[in-house]
Amino acid sequence: AAPSVHLEGPKTIAGEYKTSSERSFIMIKPDGTSRQIVGDVIKRFEQRGYKLVAIKSLVPSQELAKEHYIDLASRPFYPALVKYITCGTPVIAMVWEGKDIIRQGRRMVGATNPLEADPGSIRGQYCISVGRNIIHASDAFDSATKEIGLWFDPKELADYEPIAAPMITA
Ligand code: ADP
Repeated sequence: AAPSVHLEGPKTIAGEYKTSSERSFIMIKPDGTSRQIVGDVIKRFEQRGYKLVAIKSLVPSQELAKEHYIDLASRPFYPALVKYITCGTPVIAMVWEGKDIIRQGRRMVGATNPLEADPGSIRGQYCISVGRNIIHASDAFDSATKEIGLWFDPKELADYEPIAAPMITA
């Protein structure tokens, strides 16, 4: 799906949309876990000002991996993609929340093909192969909603206010 931004509703005094409750599904793939970049990924999102509302480590079932990537089912690499995601090394499934998180998460992750990714992005810094590109980030509001529902039970999503929130979002 083409990237899109979910911007609507009231604006702040700075003229920005108040999308502070927007959420995205971000997942460190098995190669990212294996290569021990989990801490760096979390650190980048935390330091940017985003809020971690859910996190878990799991080896996804075939069924879950297939459903997550169902839109790619007709692509030749789909079986290899499902095998990669379910290889036995855990993924780190997360939900991050904050202003414009869906679009910014995509920018922070970088292009699908790491060779096209900005060198400062996560993929641009850590990988060189589209078939081992370290991390997933929802590409649109609809896919974020679907993916969060697929990977998490609503009870797993925390509702809390970080102490620095007023210093991050005006
Ligand atoms: P993104 O993960 O950036 O949203 P896509 O939704 O197009 O990208 O693809 C999902 C995942 O499928 C990619 O992150 C990558 O792991 C894998 N993939 C995409 N294209 C290829 C390809 N040509 N060869 C192998 N794997 C691919």
